[in-house]
Amino acid sequence: MTTIRVGHLYPDYLNIYADRGNIAVLTRRAAWRGHELEVTSLGLGEAVVPGAHDLYYVGGGQDREQLLVAEDLLTKADALRAAVDQGAAMLAVCGGYQLLGRGYRGFHCEDMPGIGLLPLETVAGERRMIGDVLLECELEPGQRRTLAGFENHAGRTRLDPGGEPLGRVLAGFGNDGESGFEGCRTGRVIGTYLHGPLLPRNGWLADWLLAQALGHRLGTEDPPLLEPLADELEHRAHEVSAARARSRGGRYD
Ligand code: GLN
Repeated sequence: MTTIRVGHLYPDYLNIYADRGNIAVLTRRAAWRGHELEVTSLGLGEAVVPGAHDLYYVGGGQDREQLLVAEDLLTKADALRAAVDQGAAMLAVCGGYQLLGRGYRGFHCEDMPGIGLLPLETVAGERRMIGDVLLECELEPGQRRTLAGFENHAGRTRLDPGGEPLGRVLAGFGNDGESGFEGCRTGRVIGTYLHGPLLPRNGWLADWLLAQALGHRLGTEDPPLLEPLADELEHRAHEVSAARARSRGGRYD
């Protein structure tokens, strides 16, 4: 049994759309493989210690909550960068995703600093982009997978030239409603607008993150292979969500 150490950033502030469900999924999927997830909250004023966690998680939030944590996140920036450079993995959703870029200008023109871990910038537009989303991702060469989720954001995120998106939008808006791409990925760090929660209906992504985290924990170059799970309900949830995205697409609000 290996203990996978998760640092959950600002669970009291960035937690809309039951993003905490993502942690529950990681916990169960780790347990089904005989591993334990140890989740530590990293709130305001609490230091990030590089090497102390294998996976960082930051959820979504409204502009108001983002404003409350943005300055504090800056104080953690160097430690988070060092942790990621040493191979820790990270999943950032929506409001958390925006703050991993260089900055976010909110709906009321509030300028929030980001920590520059991902090569992107975000500016809120007039209308929110809301709806089910379906992406095609290829995190490992030759392994194409679909990712289904729900988006609700005013922010338009632009990746820098050469920035690697998480996936190609098959249905929905994605980063900015124009580019045809969603999210961003740099090594083991993933940012995305997909809420939902995301991981219950996309077990393969949960396993990818767990494998990266285990690789960090065990100090192996290649992440270990996880024993496959039946995932019947998970596949059904994925299909329901994917079908909704295909039929409705996104809508502005
Ligand atoms: N406040 C951000 C936006 O509207 C993020 C929203 C969210 O996390 N759902 O773009």
